[in-house]
Order: sequence, then structure tokens, then C-alpha cells
Amino acid sequence: FVTLRDVTKYFGAFQALDHVNLDVRRGERIVVCGPSGSGKSTLIRCINGLEQVKSGSITIDGTVLSGERRALIALRREVGMVFQHFNLFPHLTVLENCMLAPVQVRGQARPAARDIALAFLRKVRIEDQAEKYPAQLSGGQQQRVAIARALCMQPKIMLFDEPTSALDPEMVKEVLDTMVALAEEGMTMLVVTHEMGFARQVADRVIFMDRGCIVEEAPPATFFGAPRHERTRAFLARLL
Ligand code: ATP
Ligand code: MG
Repeated sequence: FVTLRDVTKYFGAFQALDHVNLDVRRGERIVVCGPSGSGKSTLIRCINGLEQVKSGSITIDGTVLSGERRALIALRREVGMVFQHFNLFPHLTVLENCMLAPVQVRGQARPAARDIALAFLRKVRIEDQAEKYPAQLSGGQQQRVAIARALCMQPKIMLFDEPTSALDPEMVKEVLDTMVALAEEGMTMLVVTHEMGFARQVADRVIFMDRGCIVEEAPPATFFGAPRHERTRAFLARLL
């Protein structure tokens, strides 16, 4: 469904991705982990078209990603993205945050966009906050709004970049529970996280990145129980 072939990405002379190959099948849940600076965010940003790759190809649902603007706009409708720092629009209410892209990008009528937004806000259990502004919500609530906002575009895949790492510990669970529910509904998900409990619970595969490379890739039982690479073992030892 999403295919990366020999993807290489440079920032100046620095190589952030080094011949990355990855296949994400429809309905698959993949967790990506690895040390700081290993290229996890870069990987996700390339799949979302936020960064251009130097060589190699990325295919999403049969369409090869190119730098062309129209293709990028089309792509972003299909790909939902949730960031570490929520990135909600501060001057819009929760409901308006969720309606903006469906109305402006998809051309949805406002009443329909409103119904869909309220349905997804209900799904993340936050519909009672719909008229508030982001600053009036807790971090965990804001992140659930960000998830609902992404879902309102009815994406084919959801990308998460450390969605819980900016949250206070007591709010991590409510966001993870939302993500588990999404996984159980069959959403295709690529999640950068160090929440290994989440990885064990929902991942079909766990990927370990180091220095721009995918070093190891295995189902969670194998990944945690019998990691093959020394670098994976060292990383897990520090984490657990
Ligand atoms: P973290 O766990 O800290 O989020 P990461 O695995 O997500 O790390 P990336 O953000 O993908 O790492 O960065 C990979 C490398 O690319 C880092 O060394 C980083 O300094 C570099 N890098 C990322 N974005 C840029 C940029 N816009 N310009 C220059 N270098 C960058
Ligand atoms: Mg990152």
C-alpha cells in the first residue's frame, strides 16, 4: 500500500536516510523506534511529502510521490499526520480545527463537515469540548483533537510522530487508548514511538532505525524477545 524503495535523503552533506526500503500493507500497524537523530521523523515527513527525497521512490496507493504541487495536495488528503506538539490552530475552536481542511481542501459543505467533525470528536471522546479553543484543553485532550482532525479527512493511512512524548504521564494513556481503538478498527498506521507497551499490543511489525538505516524489522514478539542486532539490543537495554 505504501512502498519505499531505496529512499535516500540528505540535509546538505548530512545523510538522514540511507537506502530505506519499506512496505506497509493495507491495515498494517507499524511502530518505528530508534535513537534521537536516527531519521524517524524524516522518514515520516518524506512519506507525507513534507520533505523531498534525493533518490529512490515512494509509492502510496499506486501513486508515485513526486515533487509536483498538485500531486502533493492530492497525497495529503490520503495521509493523516499527528505530530508531537499537536499543531492545532490556536485561533480556531476544536470544532473549527476539525472542519477547516474538509471544507477548504475537500470542498465539503459546512453542515456535512460539522457532522463528520462531531462524529470523530465523539469517537475520541471529546465532543463536549467542541466549542473550546486549544489553549483551554489539556495536552492529552489537544492530542485527541489532533487525531480527530486528521481522521476528518478520512485518510487511508495515519502517520504519528511521537504523539505522546510531549504529554504528562497521566495523559499518555488516554491518547494511546485512542490509538489502540483506531488500530482495532483496521486503520493503516505508521507510528514513531518509544511506548513499547503500545508496540507489543498493536504492532504487526516493529522497525528499529539507526543512522538513517532500518537496522531491524520484526514482529513484536521477535523484536523484543530475540533482537538480532547488537544495536537493537543496546537500544532496548537503555529503554527498558
Ligand atoms: P528524534 O528522536 O530526536 O525525534 P529522529 O529519529 O526523528 O530523532 P530526525 O528528526 O529524522 O531524527 O533527524 C535525523 C537527522 O537529520 C538528525 O541528525 C537531524 O539533525 C537531521 N535533520 C533533520 N531535519 C533537518 C533539517 N531540516 N535540516 C538539517 N538537518 C536536519
Ligand atoms: Mg523525531
